[in-house]
Amino acid sequence: MKKLAVLGSTGSIGTQTLDIVRERPEEFQITALAAGSNVLLLEEQVAEFRPKLVSLTEEKDARELQERLHLRNINTTEVVYGIEGLTACACEESADMTVNAVVGMVGILPTVAAIRAGKDIALANKETLVTAGHIIMPLVKEYNVKLLPVDSEHSAVFQCLQGAGEQTVEKLLLTASGGPFFGKTKEELGSITVEQALQHPNWSMGKKITVDSSTLVNKGLEVMEAGWLFSLTPEQIEVLVQPKSIIHSMIQFNDGAVLAQLGVPDMKLPIQYAMTYPDRLALSGKRLDFFELQKIEFYRPDTETFRALALAYDAFREGGSLPTVYNAANEMAVSLFLERKIGYLQITEILERAMDAHTKIKNPTLEEVLSTEGETYSYIREHSRDKRRKEAV
Ligand code: NDP
Ligand code: MG
Repeated sequence: MKKLAVLGSTGSIGTQTLDIVRERPEEFQITALAAGSNVLLLEEQVAEFRPKLVSLTEEKDARELQERLHLRNINTTEVVYGIEGLTACACEESADMTVNAVVGMVGILPTVAAIRAGKDIALANKETLVTAGHIIMPLVKEYNVKLLPVDSEHSAVFQCLQGAGEQTVEKLLLTASGGPFFGKTKEELGSITVEQALQHPNWSMGKKITVDSSTLVNKGLEVMEAGWLFSLTPEQIEVLVQPKSIIHSMIQFNDGAVLAQLGVPDMKLPIQYAMTYPDRLALSGKRLDFFELQKIEFYRPDTETFRALALAYDAFREGGSLPTVYNAANEMAVSLFLERKIGYLQITEILERAMDAHTKIKNPTLEEVLSTEGETYSYIREHSRDKRRKEAV
């Protein structure tokens, strides 16, 4: 029986993780759940899975949940809140594994704490490795825990590597769907609406990652994530657009062999593999039909139109605090876009401006990673205020 703490339990990855647990009560038990502000769904999850500890971001939401649970006579679950609450859930004493499926850089501190507490980590939250990979990877070694990728591309690579030895990898062929705007020109992208950006052709995901997939920021983050997970340089990682998302990624070995992991686009497989590694458990669902599929097409990504991917390679090559600026600027720009305060193309423009304005810290500490995040937010806030002032003149 594996005991799990699930951070981000109310999100796309979190709910799919709980679907797997629901189907295999003999394999898994939930000991902690954490979410942002979705009190009602968390209440239902607590009623069903009876964790020892749960957390929400705000104290008022935690209080509301506590009252609701009390009314249902559920008195065995402790309710906490804030980053301390999230971290406490990540480290819940009886958990063997922490599934990190929160969105954004809020995932860093709980991951560090969970590793220090000796928990294996199933990592969906890519922002953690992108910004703090240089801190996380040595910690994983020091505390001798497993760091298992949930992201489908990284899981594909991880699956291909079983028994191979990382030193035999020549190149990673990281596949991308290209997002909903594959093939569009920059002029066409200028008028993209929030609704259009939230329609992904193959995957149903949280809002931020859906927008990130359309700008290719998601692929940029994945390039950096793969660099940390598999000790690869930017030159060893090539992005291929493969619109149907059937090949989840490929590894080219130093003898020329290429291994790929294929399957219908369904996050349940990579989530479950991270939860059961090194075992594979049966999973129901659709299977690939090659006769129906007939062909798989590949294209080079258009990094002039989708500049965010080229910027990710710049951030990766530069390293230090630059990936944090890339990530934080994008987090803020995407929320401004979702609030309809900026246009679609401005997401990448803001990202580039924030990177240009930043003075790199070579080997940032955890505190410096977090202060770089804050400084990037302030820069964007001030810059957009200046811009609004100029426009008003
Ligand atoms: P969602 O937006 O669907 O879910 C995010 C989860 O995080 C929710 O449970 C949300 O709670 C919670 N959350 C948000 N802010 C906080 C906070 N400050 N403190 C605690 N919890 C918080 O995102 P996804 O599930 O799509 O993605 C999660 C992560 O996994 C991202 O890093 C993404 O890049 C990565 N990923 C996702 C994939 C997918 O298919 N969805 C594929 C590969 C990677 P609430 O609902 O209460 O707001
Ligand atoms: Mg992915």
